[in-house]
Amino acid sequence: MTVDPHYHNRFGDYDPDVDSFASYNWKSKATKEQWDNLIDRMRNVSAAAEWQAVLDDEAPRTLALVNVSHSNMESWLTRAGKHGLVTRTLQYVEPYSGFAHGHTYTGRDNPERLCFTAVAESEDVLDAAEDAYESDDAATKHSRLGELLGFPDCCREHFLENWLDEPSHDPMYEAACNTPSAERVAMTDEYDHVRVTDPSPWVNPMWRYFGLRFITHLPCSFECEASERVAYHRGRLMADQDEAAAHALKSWLDAPFTWSGHNAIAHIRNEAVAAQVNSSPYLQEKRITWRGEHAAGGKVPGKGGAVDGTTVTQ
Ligand SMILES: [Zn+2]
Repeated sequence: MTVDPHYHNRFGDYDPDVDSFASYNWKSKATKEQWDNLIDRMRNVSAAAEWQAVLDDEAPRTLALVNVSHSNMESWLTRAGKHGLVTRTLQYVEPYSGFAHGHTYTGRDNPERLCFTAVAESEDVLDAAEDAYESDDAATKHSRLGELLGFPDCCREHFLENWLDEPSHDPMYEAACNTPSAERVAMTDEYDHVRVTDPSPWVNPMWRYFGLRFITHLPCSFECEASERVAYHRGRLMADQDEAAAHALKSWLDAPFTWSGHNAIAHIRNEAVAAQVNSSPYLQEKRITWRGEHAAGGKVPGKGGAVDGTTVTQ
């Protein structure tokens, strides 16, 4: 059963002034030692699979969108030449720290600028991406780009309904409510608490702020099967590079955690870390429990360690 979203004075006239940021603290020395190196590897395989999917005939995507900075420009030129990829800058954007839900545009002459860049195997795809990006209609722009990026139809529709017209740029609560195994734990004027009892780690977007995810789109629910198919493929690409990191990522995304969004800040906690990031400016706190409450203390999720031995292919 899904649950109906409930909004008590959803955003009001609240105009938060929160810069992009994302940070986390380890809960113990043991969790830091267990995960610190793995997290970097999990993040690296996830980022690489994002553009490698463009090269794979089985992947639904023909396009990747990346931010190219002065520091990674050289590696992108090398990568493009080596793999026969073509690139085109779509926009110059301001650099940001942590996690940004959107871009702030800047000029070509800004020495700190990032190049928001389309990556593909053909100029035809770059032409289509540029046409979509320059569309005057925001819904058309995002829908066409999402199609080139291989995002499922159901998720693109959910994105347009929940991301475009509201200041909700982090619609985790909306996806939780739309999840078949969602149940309402409790609700008051101060908070709404929803629990998802049978979510899929493959489509978990609530650690993406830290680069930990199989998919890069916002799923319509935490059990979206079309998103799972995208994630399975991405997981195989990750496992080809670093199997232990791919397994660890699935273990991390599967483990119980809580997400709480309020006043433009989200707090996310599992057994290993307490994290926070800029989020949607809900006036009524939105709480999501993923499976169940995580144990207090520093116990590491998984069976006896980070790699739980489950297959990453399905
Ligand atoms: Zn979907």
